[in-house]
Amino acid sequence: MPFDATPAPLIDGFGRSVTYLRLSVTDRCDLRCTYCMAEKMCFLPKRDLLSLEELARLSELFIRHGVRKLRITGGEPLVRRDVMDLLADLSRRLDSGALDELTLTTNGTLLERHAERLARCGVKRVNVSLDTLDADRYRAITRLGDISRVLAGIDAARAAGLRVKLNAVASRGAFEDELDELIRFAHGRGMDLTLIEEMPLGETGQDRSRSVLSLRDLQADLSRRWTLTPSRRSSGGPARYMTVAETGGRLGFISPMSCNFCALCNRVRVSCTGRLYTCMGDEASVDLRGPLRRSDEEAMEAIRQAIAEKPERHQFDMNDMSRPAVSRHMSALGG
Ligand code: SAM
Ligand code: SF4
Repeated sequence: MPFDATPAPLIDGFGRSVTYLRLSVTDRCDLRCTYCMAEKMCFLPKRDLLSLEELARLSELFIRHGVRKLRITGGEPLVRRDVMDLLADLSRRLDSGALDELTLTTNGTLLERHAERLARCGVKRVNVSLDTLDADRYRAITRLGDISRVLAGIDAARAAGLRVKLNAVASRGAFEDELDELIRFAHGRGMDLTLIEEMPLGETGQDRSRSVLSLRDLQADLSRRWTLTPSRRSSGGPARYMTVAETGGRLGFISPMSCNFCALCNRVRVSCTGRLYTCMGDEASVDLRGPLRRSDEEAMEAIRQAIAEKPERHQFDMNDMSRPAVSRHMSALGG
């Protein structure tokens, strides 16, 4: 039988279908968020990255075998110069109906420049990471960032017709004090806000046991001030959504530490060097670049084998946050 005469869907050893690919296009970033990176990072040489053609070919293989949603991430995806060409190329798969959704996670600093072209590429919504509205705190968290550029990026995205969702990594202290304002800001502009529990990924030079905040506790605290009811609309992802009666907006909770959602996992991640990670909480990964350089058949074989061995669940321990559970940084393969 010729290769892929009847492309079979990607199903793991626990019967979960893989229909969602998160593809990292770079490990580089213009920020150094304290929970994500160390202050001094050593980035990969450009020659180690998958080329644009390889990123497109790999995406095509996943799409042919049942991936319906593709998220471009990083590092910061918009710092890669040719990323818009990749998006333009992938948008043809939206037009043909092979892909349901093409989307992006970004820190927003370069969004103002790219928002209109993203919309033209068929991107309907973007996730923008923003943990605070305070310029000084933003600078402290990101070590380098200028919040005015992110706010301009959000405005440009909305003006271009993109739906924007804000992502914020929850942390103890000032974040809790500011959260009500962040909710009002997001919901006042028709944006969902999703809170993420900090995960122990990579050495950042910070003691995470001092900052980590259980979203269970945070939700209980929020419930004293806001009326939260479970939302019927689901993103199909790990976020649990609540509707905030006072604003009419939605608040998502992604709680990898305090609430395991692995039974519903439909996703895999590919790093910018072409390594396939079937579980964020697992050190293991499989090289796809070598097989891809030889043939589509070999790449597909490597993908199938890795997905068959996708772990049943991650094993993060909230009581042991002082050292990374996994040595790679979040920026190495995207959120
Ligand atoms: N640079 C882009 C951005 O910041 O949106 C995309 C890549 S970033 C790694 C993706 C997401 O991961 C961001 O929303 C970020 O806040 C989140 N993140 C980074 N480090 C994290 C950690 N240790 N635990 C939980 N989320 C983290
Ligand atoms: Fe860069 Fe995103 Fe990591 Fe922040 S979270 S350092 S913006 S990759």
